[in-house]
Amino acid sequence: MNLIVKAGCRIFQKAFRLVIPVLPYREPKIVDACDDLKEVFEKEKITSLLIVTDQGIIDHGLLQHVEEACKKYCVEYTIYSGVKPNPTVENVECGLHLYQNNQSQAIIAIGGGSSMDCGKAIGACIANPKKKVKDMKGILRVIHKLPPLIAIPTTAGTGSEVTLASVISDPKNHDKYALMDFPLIPHYAVLDPKMTYTLPKSLTATTGMDALTHAIEAYIGGSTTPKTRRLALDAIKLIYQNLWIAYEDPQNEVARRNMSLAAYQAGLAFSMSYVGYIHAIAHSLGGQYDTAHGLANAVVMPYVLKAYGHRIDRKMHDIALVAGVSNEIDRDEDACRKMIASIEALNQKMHIPSHIAEIQEKDIPSLAKHASKEANPLYPVPVLWNAKELAPLYRQIKGE
Ligand SMILES: [Zn+2]
Repeated sequence: MNLIVKAGCRIFQKAFRLVIPVLPYREPKIVDACDDLKEVFEKEKITSLLIVTDQGIIDHGLLQHVEEACKKYCVEYTIYSGVKPNPTVENVECGLHLYQNNQSQAIIAIGGGSSMDCGKAIGACIANPKKKVKDMKGILRVIHKLPPLIAIPTTAGTGSEVTLASVISDPKNHDKYALMDFPLIPHYAVLDPKMTYTLPKSLTATTGMDALTHAIEAYIGGSTTPKTRRLALDAIKLIYQNLWIAYEDPQNEVARRNMSLAAYQAGLAFSMSYVGYIHAIAHSLGGQYDTAHGLANAVVMPYVLKAYGHRIDRKMHDIALVAGVSNEIDRDEDACRKMIASIEALNQKMHIPSHIAEIQEKDIPSLAKHASKEANPLYPVPVLWNAKELAPLYRQIKGE
């Protein structure tokens, strides 16, 4: 990347960093268990609500915890369970009709990122009745306050329960876009370990590594604040102490609770301090080959961290200390090397591959272009690369 473009990126990022403290970020209130929804129902005076989820959550029996709470506290509920892995405009409209027909007063979104995205978009339509979903794409389009939005994550990774983004697909028009506005941040996040007990091992592994990626990218980027640095380090510590236990012993309540908290903290950290090229590359692979987000991040992470070189040594030393893989006496570069090696070892232990074989040589230029377009100038990455400089990374990830 030439010096003028680099300078432009850095000026953009610096301006963004200066406004972070004045932006209206809001933290969802943490609710420890589905049964504690009683206080939320009372506080918000909710007597009827819409549950937004997908069939997989029902098949795993996870909805029953929420249904029990609703019945126990006399709250009527309607279920919309048609959310697709990439939620569509039609999903949002179906949920919206149910909400209106049943005079719901609040939304509970249960699941991974898709249900949260759909719940946020339904809330946006209720708050802005004159606008269609597509009218709200981009930023500063959702102006009014959403009805109470309660997020119940069933994975510990995406951080969707704290973020301001909702990604919606429009298959009829071959379009996919994000709604990004502060009112979309859920009001409550229920971090109930019971909701993650049935998560398959492979998803415990990859969604956990997604959370680790959020925390590491937020920490090594250039737009951190004392708060986001603390949140990122706390999340990394919890992930290193609990991910392997949750993987080995899925019903371990403490490990599951700590992983949910880590995903929440990492989500808060990256929603203010952004991610970096690991995510940009992972998104390009998701778009081209449908590679699952967490899996892509887990595989891509060591390659990108190594490519950043000595620029990240000092910050990686901080990370290695909280992860427990280094000590104060280590030189920064040795601590960084140890930390990257520990990520590779953790991946291997959890049977996450070290390459993504689907990558085709002919696709690499467009994949790299996609990643560069997503990341530059927005992501405050430690080292700036253009598409040409990103391309060799894809060859390494492919496994040449
Ligand atoms: Zn992610």
